[in-house]
Amino acid sequence: MDTEELFHRLKKFERPYVSRQKTPFWVLIGAILSTRTKDEVTEKALKKLIEYAPDIHKLNELPVGKIEKLIYPVGFYHTKAKNLKILTKTVLEKYNGKIPQKLNELLSLPGVGRKVATLVLSAAFDKDEICVDTHVHRISNRLGLVETKNVLETERELKRIIPQKYWKKINSYFVTLGRKFCHPRKPSCKDCPLKDLCPYKRCAASKAK
Ligand code: SF4
Repeated sequence: MDTEELFHRLKKFERPYVSRQKTPFWVLIGAILSTRTKDEVTEKALKKLIEYAPDIHKLNELPVGKIEKLIYPVGFYHTKAKNLKILTKTVLEKYNGKIPQKLNELLSLPGVGRKVATLVLSAAFDKDEICVDTHVHRISNRLGLVETKNVLETERELKRIIPQKYWKKINSYFVTLGRKFCHPRKPSCKDCPLKDLCPYKRCAASKAK
């Protein structure tokens, strides 16, 4: 696979809503909301939250019940509301209101796993990290870039084979590709900009149409 050509074709894609947030704080909150939640539901909830509590201080003042109402119906909204409450307090008290830039510090915050932390590092802090979510895992395998069984393996393999200059961009590219064409169940291969590069066998019929 010619990775230069692959990324060249994807560079016109718009970045996903969460990655486009102007501050690391909202990238972090958006990434937390997005776990186990459809993209459009995440987007609506994040917009509502930002509108009601536009910064960390305002969010910190909200009771958990109000946060729950604002983010409903994201997946696990009850737990996420509680985590957001603890997270804002922790960031204010321990990090002076600034989102930490170290992986282990991010991982110590409530509701923050590797996917969320690597998205914050790559999308908000411009660090060379690869955020592997379900889109990146699925598409990397379909494209034959990797042959892996889980997201950790995928991250490790991608870091081995993809030039470092693309690491922080992979998530944005593949999330948008996954939303537009490379859907989990029925990929729209005949319209996909990578169709002539992609070896995914199960969509050979769709390519032929
Ligand atoms: S050709 Fe099909 S399987 Fe391959 S990346 Fe495009 S949509 Fe996904």
